[in-house]
Amino acid sequence: MIKYDVIVVGSGPAGLLAARSAGRAGLQTVLLERKSDITRLDRMCGQTLVSANDYYFDDLVNYNREGKRIGFLNNGFSFNYDGPIKNCMAWQIFSPKGNCLPFGLPEETSKKGEHGAVGLAYDKEILLSCLLEEVKASGVEIVEGIDVSSIQQDAGGVTAAGKDSFFSGKYLIAADGTNSRISRLTGFNEGRQLYCYLLSRGFCMQGLNLPADNILISSICFDTIAPGYMFIFPRPYADEANVAFLTLDPRVDLSQVGDYFMKQNPFYASWFKGAKVIKESASAQYVFSPVPDPYKNRILLAGDTGSCQELENTGAMISGFKAGNAIAAAVKEDNIGIYSRGITDYVKWWQDVYVNGYRHEDYIMNFALPYVIDQGADFDYICSLAKEPLPPCWNPYAAISHLGQFMQGIVPTIQKERPDILPKLAKMAKPMEEVLAETTMACQPIKELE
Ligand SMILES: Cc1cc2nc3c(=O)[nH]c(=O)nc-3n(C[C@H](O)[C@H](O)[C@H](O)COP(=O)(O)OP(=O)(O)OC[C@H]3O[C@@H](n4cnc5c(N)ncnc54)[C@H](O)[C@@H]3O)c2cc1C
Repeated sequence: MIKYDVIVVGSGPAGLLAARSAGRAGLQTVLLERKSDITRLDRMCGQTLVSANDYYFDDLVNYNREGKRIGFLNNGFSFNYDGPIKNCMAWQIFSPKGNCLPFGLPEETSKKGEHGAVGLAYDKEILLSCLLEEVKASGVEIVEGIDVSSIQQDAGGVTAAGKDSFFSGKYLIAADGTNSRISRLTGFNEGRQLYCYLLSRGFCMQGLNLPADNILISSICFDTIAPGYMFIFPRPYADEANVAFLTLDPRVDLSQVGDYFMKQNPFYASWFKGAKVIKESASAQYVFSPVPDPYKNRILLAGDTGSCQELENTGAMISGFKAGNAIAAAVKEDNIGIYSRGITDYVKWWQDVYVNGYRHEDYIMNFALPYVIDQGADFDYICSLAKEPLPPCWNPYAAISHLGQFMQGIVPTIQKERPDILPKLAKMAKPMEEVLAETTMACQPIKELE
């Protein structure tokens, strides 16, 4: 028997915003979450808001410091966040020898005060807890500790089950993240291109000796069988940062990547002397092409569930908010007996703003760059040509466009000084399947195990 108007599976940023929208519209809503505590952050996340100085997913994120609210000005929604926030004033990429490719310089961006921030660092456990309070206040039933393992669909509704519990609703919003079981069980993954995995180990650290404490940092390790990466995200607490070591290729040992940055390379190792780890986390995810149509048989996808790699927290929040409202509209349309458009509008937004609005290959290129410029020394050389900062940015899609323009500008110099690098740069225009072919192959055995 159908009990709920909507079942929301997954209580990350997307699921919480979806449940809040549905609850606020008066729908009988249940939120199902696998973790025993929604507010506990198990999965590695940099805990920043992408992006603070640019439209992202057709919206502009805004932090109201006085009112302690994170808001989205175009879609017109906000929520309470009473934890600490730190402005991230630039994103800088460092080469193995310490040359810097800067998306902004903090001394320049700081001239605009907090409006110069490219991203905002926050505490995600506090954010999840603030959102959960609003979900509770909107009348949503919350069930923690349930791993949804089967889905049944018929013309009138959807039943989600985990262990011996069954939940039947008119609609279901799948916000179960990037490795979504629901999208796999219900056919949304058919036809999606698998590019690779993204594997990470994360460390919350104290006592780092970084070039600046209010910038985002990334770097590449060229010494492993396939590239390894380091991202350093400021934390909104004095003397703390989140450090992540990542790879797209399961053959790469992430401890080796960590050792390279923290011990072996003298430039980076100087940042880690005397630092201590206060918390560890990890993540493992598929990197597929996006789901082109996020609605099928009463199931609507929100957040990372249908995305390539990730929508980022901001994209997940926007899509969750919109998905909850789309289902609220659909239920009302059904009740009135009028032509249905709530869900169609969401699908159109997903396609226009995300699938066709951004190239998912650009997102992956943020990680695929060392597959193109595949020697540390070449990367040192390219970074040495950045005489002026690139535009301040913490937006993975915009960054690739800025990088493309930077590369075009330095081609004449490379032609003169290092023509051997030009064929490598030309590889940037090749299809991503080709760029990542060897890593994709290395992922196949694990894919078959799934
Ligand atoms: C290393 C790393 C660093 C990142 N850094 C940043 C950053 O700095 N800034 C940023 O904006 N984004 C960052 N992200 C991405 C960000 O974490 C995600 O985009 C965001 O969390 C997506 O939100 P979501 O709600 O769609 O999914 P998730 O946050 O993944 O939430 C999914 C929820 O569903 C639950 N779930 C899964 N399966 C089931 C099931 N079968 N039954 C019940 N519940 C289930 C999970 O437990 C989880 O709570 C990072 C990601 C990684 C991997």
